[in-house]
Amino acid sequence: MQTRYVFVIGGVMSGVGKGATTAAIGRVLQSKGFTVTAVKIDPYVNVDAGTMNPVEHGEVFVTVDGDETDQDMGNYERFLGVDMTRDNYMTTGRVYQSVIERERNLEYGGRCVEVVPHVPEEVIRRIERAGTLSKADFVLVEVGGTVGEYQNVLFLEALRLLKLRDENAVRTILVSYLPVPPSIGEMKTKPTQHAVREVNHAGIRPDFIVCRSRDPIDGPRREKIATFCGVAREHIIAAPNVKTIYAIPQLFEEQGFGDAILKSFGMKPKASKLKDWYALTDTITSATEPVKIGVIGKYFETGAFVLSDVYLSVLEAIKHAAWANGRIPEIEWINSEDYEREPKKLEELRSLQGIIIPGGFGTRGIEGKISAIRFSREHEIPYFGLCYGMQCAVIEYARNILGWADANTEEMNPNTHHLMIHFMEGQRENTERGRYGGTLRLGAWPCALKHGSIAAEAYGAKTVNERHRHRYEFNNVYRENLECAGLMVSGESPDGELVEIVEIPDHPFFVGVQFHPEFQSRPLAPHPLFVQFIQAATQRA
Ligand code: GLN
Repeated sequence: MQTRYVFVIGGVMSGVGKGATTAAIGRVLQSKGFTVTAVKIDPYVNVDAGTMNPVEHGEVFVTVDGDETDQDMGNYERFLGVDMTRDNYMTTGRVYQSVIERERNLEYGGRCVEVVPHVPEEVIRRIERAGTLSKADFVLVEVGGTVGEYQNVLFLEALRLLKLRDENAVRTILVSYLPVPPSIGEMKTKPTQHAVREVNHAGIRPDFIVCRSRDPIDGPRREKIATFCGVAREHIIAAPNVKTIYAIPQLFEEQGFGDAILKSFGMKPKASKLKDWYALTDTITSATEPVKIGVIGKYFETGAFVLSDVYLSVLEAIKHAAWANGRIPEIEWINSEDYEREPKKLEELRSLQGIIIPGGFGTRGIEGKISAIRFSREHEIPYFGLCYGMQCAVIEYARNILGWADANTEEMNPNTHHLMIHFMEGQRENTERGRYGGTLRLGAWPCALKHGSIAAEAYGAKTVNERHRHRYEFNNVYRENLECAGLMVSGESPDGELVEIVEIPDHPFFVGVQFHPEFQSRPLAPHPLFVQFIQAATQRA
């Protein structure tokens, strides 16, 4: 079958769920028997998301092959159930880098290299490559940001040129937002009309409009959009707020969105197999009892607003595992700095059934995290430490069990005597020379599990592959001291050089992992360690 390209672009504003929409469309097409892949385009100049402050950008999603990408890539993996790679992600920086490299290698044959067409051509080359590599029937291409932004132009130009090559291979979906201003109480279509005008300026006509809104779009407004935007009435799709994003495939399928896309390509409608998804939504909505989990981190505040996107995959992994345990996930976001300012506040942790400390960088808030870990260890509250959360657990154990008050990580205090966590090989040089981009230990690495440990039991395996993103590691000099004092190393690299998992055997659940299990949790295949952690949490009153 010929590969088809479905571009998903945004109108009006960002943050309305373009990524989840793209992923859900993918799931619908996949459920009709097609091979689907997705490409995320981020219009900024950064080569990847790794060097950006998470408050500005949201989570950095790490792929199996070690690319530091956008959080939407996580949505694609969770909805499509397939691993994305660096071929599924591009930024303006990455595109220009390739064009310039090619120019330096004389690959343009002495011609003048121009922004148009050479840059959009590189974009197209990358999109086509992603399709070829996964032998996709459909490649979904999500263009980050919103139309009308200066940064978007070259990507829309790529869309236009690709369509020029083969009119029948490309369709465009505009995800727009329809506000209901409280003072009027009526859903307004004008911002969408303006967005479509912007798209038209770029020489593109949207084939579909997905109307994101609080409530489903009604008849009169559907009519208005059809008339003023020149889009077929049945190509206007309602996307009201839903209880869970995992209900979106069903929402789309019930409106015949998938078949409408097939028909627009001149293909026959096809029945979908979404039973497992419908069952998932049932599970989600039928749970009655909550499980209360605290996520202790930083990075939450931006001005007067609090963001949880920074830990999106952690949040999703908790949800998947809670549902698998028949519970409603109830998550409390806790700023670790609160415990530094006011240690008495630690008492509030008693009311939680489980505590997670996710990944993090830098010195801010680390002492608060360490105090919280001590509290959960001493009060037998299930604890799950992810990456920095594992490193902090090691420091806590050294300080309070071994009595080494100065125990620390090199990231926090390089001059301390007991460096429990130190630079990985080669990483000191990287930071000294200012080589930050893409130089962390990244991607999936094997981990051998210790027989009889909580980890081995949860996974039901001897070796697993998990994704990493770190510059520091457990210092083996102190391995024996810690093990003798009761901190079990239950996972390590197959050569025994790198400690990957630590746990405390006589605790309801106390596990720290050097990797990021959250990236591999999927709604239909929740991560075993999260499942086990939530199970322990449900046992706590
Ligand atoms: N900052 C720590 C390191 O670089 C932990 C990283 C993380 O939590 N992803 O090793």
